[in-house]
Amino acid sequence: MTTILDKLDLETKADAIVERIHGYLDAGKRVFTTSSFQSQSLPLLHMISRVDRDIPVFYTNTGFLFPDTIRFAEQVAAQLNLRVIGLRPEVTKIRQMDAAGRFLYASDPDHCCYLNKVAPLEPILIEYDVWINGVRADQSDVRSQLHEEEAAPHDCLRYHPMLGWDSRMVYYYRQQHDLPAHPLEEKGYMSIGCEPCTIRFSGDGNQRNSRWFGMNKTECGLNTTLVAGEKSA
Ligand code: SF4
Repeated sequence: MTTILDKLDLETKADAIVERIHGYLDAGKRVFTTSSFQSQSLPLLHMISRVDRDIPVFYTNTGFLFPDTIRFAEQVAAQLNLRVIGLRPEVTKIRQMDAAGRFLYASDPDHCCYLNKVAPLEPILIEYDVWINGVRADQSDVRSQLHEEEAAPHDCLRYHPMLGWDSRMVYYYRQQHDLPAHPLEEKGYMSIGCEPCTIRFSGDGNQRNSRWFGMNKTECGLNTTLVAGEKSA
């Protein structure tokens, strides 16, 4: 059960994030956010909806997402009245195959992620000043190294308001605000990305272990390549 203290503490934290985003806008910054539209994405999207529903919410529609995720994005957009925009890769799928005729996610997932997730975001970084990004430090070692503000390429600033939140806080905030869950959660998927690179959560360890299972890969590049100074995913 959520205690009164938890509720007050969460709302205070959320209010501070809302104020910070207002501050960027008041300073004339062009602000956008990205979302993977998982259940854990909902608190930040809810806070953004409290600030300005015109802030664009981009998601990388790689062509490999679960249909459930796209439907969930549409549901959340309608429920929170958000401006949700899918970004598509420029390179067609027929050109995303290796010499053996396999999709790159099987043979070169880093390059697949670059073409489908990282490259489509580059023009957005050029156009905007602040990227509100919902990474949390408890999700991975890479993310735990990030700071609340971090430089991104093209003079864009990354703002990571959820860095200090954990899964328990996310759960309570979703409960308090009656925010929906991704439909695949009830089928055992707890960290959900592209369909070929996501498996059901085994219940052991970090939920993100169900992404790129069996591969030496933990990030798609949005939080490595698109951090200024870093070079590869
Ligand atoms: S998550 Fe998998 S399918 Fe999606 S872009 Fe990355 S390698 Fe390709």
